Amino acid sequence: MKILIASPEAVPYVKTGGLADVAGALCREYRKMKQDAFLILPLYKNIKKRENALVDTGVRIKVPVGKRIMEGRIFNDRLQNHFIRCDEFFDRPEIYGTPEGDYADNAARFVFFSRGILETCRALNFRPDVVHCNDWQTSLVPLYLRTLYRNDGLFKKTATLLTIHNLGYQGLFPASDMVLTNLGSDLFNPGGIEFYGKVNFLKAGIISADILNTVSETYAKEILGSDFGYGLDGVLRTRQDDLYGVINGIDHDEWDPSKDRFLSGHYDYDDISGKSACRRKLLRTLFTSSQAGGESMPVIGMVTRLSEQKGLDLVIRAVPELLSFGVKLAILGKGDDRFHKGLQDISGMFGGSLSVNIGFDEQLAHRIYAGSDFFLVPSKYEPCGLGQLIALRYGSIPVARKTGGLADTVQDYEPLKSRGIGFLFSDYTPSAMLDALKRAFCVYTDKDKMKQMIRGGMRKDFSWKHSAQRYIELYKVALKKKGRKGR
Ligand code: ADP
Repeated sequence: MKILIASPEAVPYVKTGGLADVAGALCREYRKMKQDAFLILPLYKNIKKRENALVDTGVRIKVPVGKRIMEGRIFNDRLQNHFIRCDEFFDRPEIYGTPEGDYADNAARFVFFSRGILETCRALNFRPDVVHCNDWQTSLVPLYLRTLYRNDGLFKKTATLLTIHNLGYQGLFPASDMVLTNLGSDLFNPGGIEFYGKVNFLKAGIISADILNTVSETYAKEILGSDFGYGLDGVLRTRQDDLYGVINGIDHDEWDPSKDRFLSGHYDYDDISGKSACRRKLLRTLFTSSQAGGESMPVIGMVTRLSEQKGLDLVIRAVPELLSFGVKLAILGKGDDRFHKGLQDISGMFGGSLSVNIGFDEQLAHRIYAGSDFFLVPSKYEPCGLGQLIALRYGSIPVARKTGGLADTVQDYEPLKSRGIGFLFSDYTPSAMLDALKRAFCVYTDKDKMKQMIRGGMRKDFSWKHSAQRYIELYKVALKKKGRKGR
């Protein structure tokens, strides 16, 4: 099957969060399965730094963005992944915006990218069976296929799947940006892509993709209700029969404590002794030697985008009590300014046992997963969450809120049966989170139980094998809807 994965980010090229892991790893898995799969991405500044690995195909596309016709230059790499270059839009230090806010021309940037994807197919005479779109940045693709490209023979048999990785990000723009899409103004109504007087790019995908999915079964149900639907629950309910939940996997080659290039010790579930070296190294790196003392106390890690969704307000409020137990907390994150400040303020007050690291740091992320005993994920909502999956693979026991994909992947510990691979809490309050942590600390004091739990989590298979197979099945459903048999 010819699969085009359209995504605004993908490892190993560019990453701000889980979407990049998913798009990159899924494409790799397809190739292992001998599917014809390709990624298409904007050529951002950071990717350009690797430009010697990229080749200019010489192919040029013209993409209307409102009244302007923008040129895109098509690059590819040895894996035949494609990159659309347009420096005016993508030659910037960040991908979507700075900590102060999103780039003001994001509507134009991702109109260009979405339409550019279809123009690239045309220019290369590439006829995808499926375009797998991801999030609002590529959500106009299915709508373009149903409107401006409806009569284009190249796409006559092309089906679309839209994966919603996070309904909290919809690509909402002022009504005046509608003209940038070059779609008819008749689409600016509640049945189209209008949303409370604004243009909603994600809604374009929801109303027009052949099928939809989100990244866990629980989240797929949650978003049909008003608590998690972010105003789109009504539209989603109209597509309920076409909406599926497919849990994300992780790339077991990229995330493997037995050969991780960033670690000072290696280990696997047969022999976890190497984890102690990682733990010692983490303590030495993030806490000064006098503070690194008390090595016997639990180390809690967090690696996260610093956004409202991730429960940082709970953490900030719980820190005084949490640290009073003598534990160490290591946080790595990047995102909203107010959380940067909030965390830095408390780190000033509790410097000894709290290490706050602002930035995106792949190496430190790996070291925190490997060096921590517990991994805290107190999200308000969590479509899937990769942090807890990676933590489990690295023998760091998740303490997580019971929502979305966290509820689907972390089984709460049952002390009387010695069953479970993590600790869950339901209420979104500091005290519920602290209660779960206290339950975790009780297990921590029993070395055998702790070891058993760590190994139970490490043994879980969160690889892409099953989910990639599931996506192929969904593509076949989409193709069938499109009126043709999946091959
Ligand atoms: P989301 O996609 O909502 O950000 P996920 O849990 O699905 O959350 O995925 C987050 C991914 O990004 C994980 O691979 C995590 O390790 C990584 N990550 C998040 N923040 C950072 C950071 N500051 N530095 C390095 N990696 C990070």
